[in-house]
Parts: sequence; C-alpha cells; structure tokens
Amino acid sequence: MTRIEEQIRADIVEAGRRLYARAYIASSDGNISARLDDRRLITTPKSVCKGFMTPDMLVIVDYNGNKLAGERDPSTELPMHLEIYRNRPDVNAVVHAHPPNATGFAVAGIPLTRAVLAEVIATLGSIPIAAYGTPSTSELPEAVRKYIKAHDGMLLANHGAVTCGRDVLGAYYKMETIEHFAKISLVARLLGGEHLISREEVERLQGLRGIYGTPAPAPLCGDPSEAGTDQVVCQVLEAPESPAQRLVPDVSLALRQARGPQRASLPDGVEESRDGEIRLTYGELTALIADAVKTLKE
Ligand SMILES: [Zn+2]
Repeated sequence: MTRIEEQIRADIVEAGRRLYARAYIASSDGNISARLDDRRLITTPKSVCKGFMTPDMLVIVDYNGNKLAGERDPSTELPMHLEIYRNRPDVNAVVHAHPPNATGFAVAGIPLTRAVLAEVIATLGSIPIAAYGTPSTSELPEAVRKYIKAHDGMLLANHGAVTCGRDVLGAYYKMETIEHFAKISLVARLLGGEHLISREEVERLQGLRGIYGTPAPAPLCGDPSEAGTDQVVCQVLEAPESPAQRLVPDVSLALRQARGPQRASLPDGVEESRDGEIRLTYGELTALIADAVKTLKE
C-alpha cells in the first residue's frame, strides 16, 4: 500500500468519526469515497457505523462500481458517488450524510439558496435540493446529476445532503458548512426571518473568494432562467438588487408584515402586536377557522 493510499484511508476513517461524533449520521448511515487513481476509487463499506471504522474495512472499486479489493461490500449509494466523479474531473472525494438541520430543510422542501452568510456565498454559493429518488436506485444519481456541475454541495429531498471536494476533509468541511448554515437559517427564521445580502455585496464577496478558500464551481446566474433544466450551469442565489443597502430585509417577511394590518376579519379582542405578528388563543383560532369556512361556503 502506498503512503498516499494510507493517508486517504486515514482521512476517510477520520471524516466518518467526525460525521458520527457530530450526529450528522445515525447507525450505519452515510458514505464517503475518494479517488485513488484514474482506475480505482476507495469507499466506505455498507452496514457499518462510520463512527467506528478501521482503515482495513474500506473497499476498493472501479469507476463502474465493481469491487476490486476488500472484505466487505461497498455502500449502496456508490452509484451517486460515481455520477459525481463522472461529471466533475476536479473532484477527488464525496461525502454523503443526514445532518438533522440540513435534512430538515430537505424534508420541508426549502433549499438553502438565500444570500445570508458571507463565507457560504464565497465558498459553496447556493445549496439547491435535488429531487427525491429512492435510495440505492438510479433515481438518486440522476437527481444529483442535474446540479453537480455547478454546485459542490446539495440537499437531497427527504433524505440528506451530499458534498464533494478536492480531498476527503475538504468535502467533509463542506458538509459541516451546510449543516451550520441550515442551523443558522432555522434560528433566523424562528426569530422572524433573515436579512438578505444585496446582489452588489454578493458580487463584492465573490471577488474575495481567494481569502475564504475553494470557491463555488460555477458563477451566479444573471437570471434564474439561465440555470438550465437538464443540467444546471450556474447558481441561483436569492440576493435582491439594492445599490444603496448591503443588507435587505427578506421580501416575504416584509410582505407578511405589510399584509398584517389589512386583515379585517380578526375576531373581537384580537389585536396585532407591533412586530406585525398576530397572537391567538386556541378558542380565537377555532373561531377564525369557522369564520373562514363559512365565508368559503357562501
Ligand atoms: Zn443517505
């Protein structure tokens, strides 16, 4: 075994240990792979907890997924990894996990495509959701194929997330960034919504990419229709045009607040608070629903 192979095996074991320690995976979930050379890949085995692997448990396969060496069987998600290597000659490692906040967004069908954190904009860019595919079938590689040319990380609808990078730990760190971003987005939304970074500021941040490390693999789309349907070639990022402001309140939040006072049919005694939120007791909510149903019938 070469020193390089030894190092890659050690990195995969370490990435698996961190994924499990941070609860990005449970039980035998998740998988990691890396290129060994232009003929061989090394991958985690199936049905093993990735938090407690040893270097000898890993499996060597070719780029068609045929096992070449190792006592165990390769991961059932190997076809998704192979699809990524086929589409991205620059990628040397792939990590797949189910981190709970990011997976929550994937389950709710909410992509992480808002411009809110400078380091995410400068590195991953936008994080879309690949369509749902039955795990271990060809549906998942096909769904991932759509976004992989323009993105180093994506959510997988009702499943988890996948990231790729120049080496094993690079791909792992992108998984950490996605989960951290998802957690911050969730907290910001619970607190009333994000302020978005303006388009102009996003362009400035992209100019600073070298400072933050590996940049996203594709530029931003000037217009979402440029992205393409079969295979996406640029990144769609929600960043409002605002030459005068670097931070812009979320439009949907502003809309909710603007609409608030116009709700005329609030039951007696129900008032809107100053922050535009309406607080109802259970009885008031029931009365409101009954009223809405009555209006619909009329
Ligand atoms: Zn999975």
